[in-house]
Amino acid sequence: MKSTRPILNVARASSTKPSPFTWVHPGEGIEARVTEVTDQRLKGKRIAIKDNFMLRGTRTTCSSRMLQEFESPYTATSVKSLLSSAASITGKTQMDEFGMGSMTNNLPPGSPPVHNPWNLDAAVEGKDEVQVRSAGGSSGGSAAAVKGGQAWAALGTDTGGSVRLPASYCGLVGLKPSHGMISRHGVVSYADTLDCVGILTSEVDDARLLFDIMSHPDSMDPSCASAEVRHRAEGVEHEARHSMKGLRDGRLDGVRIGIPIETCLEKDLTPLDLAPFIRHLRSLGATIVPISIPSIRLALPAYYVLACAEASSNLARFGGGWYGGQQSGLKEPDGSVDRRQWTRRWGFGPEVKKRILAGTYALTAGAFNNSYLKALQLRQRLRSDLDAIFRSSQPQDLDDVTEAPSRGVDVYMHLTAIQTAPILDSTSSTSQDARGYAQDLLTVPASLGGLPCISLPIGLGADGWPVGASLTGQWGSESVLMDIAKIGM
Ligand code: GLN
Repeated sequence: MKSTRPILNVARASSTKPSPFTWVHPGEGIEARVTEVTDQRLKGKRIAIKDNFMLRGTRTTCSSRMLQEFESPYTATSVKSLLSSAASITGKTQMDEFGMGSMTNNLPPGSPPVHNPWNLDAAVEGKDEVQVRSAGGSSGGSAAAVKGGQAWAALGTDTGGSVRLPASYCGLVGLKPSHGMISRHGVVSYADTLDCVGILTSEVDDARLLFDIMSHPDSMDPSCASAEVRHRAEGVEHEARHSMKGLRDGRLDGVRIGIPIETCLEKDLTPLDLAPFIRHLRSLGATIVPISIPSIRLALPAYYVLACAEASSNLARFGGGWYGGQQSGLKEPDGSVDRRQWTRRWGFGPEVKKRILAGTYALTAGAFNNSYLKALQLRQRLRSDLDAIFRSSQPQDLDDVTEAPSRGVDVYMHLTAIQTAPILDSTSSTSQDARGYAQDLLTVPASLGGLPCISLPIGLGADGWPVGASLTGQWGSESVLMDIAKIGM
């Protein structure tokens, strides 16, 4: 087994060279002039946003031909929050079509995949000059904007790993908050029960600032956590801090970090090695505990059934009625098909079509019990397995105030990805293959659990490319999670 070089923090160097193909629309910031600024916390900060966030005065295309001329009718709540803190929005970034993908290569015809800016960095220049690698996906443009020095931070969305994977491949911090912590109002849905607004930055403190600004209740998003639930989560977190005495002094004494054996057991799963980082955390005082989350192995198939089923329903709105189909490139139907069929055939790319078909099938009467229902049951099983490992109890559900195990862990940890950034080859802009789906193996469990998860750069792989580790905490424990992440990084 090859190992990562145990050089911590080296993956944090920031490139100053912009990466090609990052932007869908650069430099649009019209809304900034009409939003009331209430504080100056983000004054002078350039923030890029993924092209599935509404920003009035710009198009929101989701990197789909279906929406290529769609003007945002309003601004997403999360983006509004940034603007009220005086942020400057630098543009909309490239993404996999409707968030479906892991390499930002599921794009409209003729759009090249986003390049990972890592090897444009002076630190590794000369080593890997010609190799073009993926920035990850689906928020690859957002990660490339930050790593390439074109933005201080970026917003992405994370349904099954789309912020954490690009963070890992580009050597950035990527935060997927608890589901419901940041409003999804104004963010185009992929799979509502999994979609989260995520944050990409170079430093944990920057992610924390953005999270604090965007995390609040929102009456426009019924799935956004209420003030009461947030209050309860703060109480649970406050309790948990009693046992983590080291945090006050920048140490990890008292912090219990679980390593799920299921993520380490598979032979040949990955050439990357988490051991140097585990040793580093131990040297800071953390207690490392092997744990078992048996259902984690079933997370990937369950995720794809649920995500596709929800997507097939969400994407039914695009068909030339309210949304999509007004494009200048779309010709009149030839008479053999109706306008909706014609528009969808033309507007969606192959990966999106594949997932709509798979999702529709999972929801049909004949397949429902064996696919969608099974996947729901698997998610439920995973949620209880996850709940059982944490020291703190789940604050969301009042009826389910089970006693948390006192010997439980505060966070669990594993590699973010099974590999370093994949090489972009000539086959990479066709519909995804099994290799693409397998990349989500380690990121989807936290998504199904609705749990907060942060990916940190922990060093370089044997090939000289960044490696990320993920820390996942109990629902609503972002503050503790980011404390641990900051000390560990
Ligand atoms: N790669 C996963 C998918 O294609 C996750 C995408 C995401 O988080 N938006 O569904």
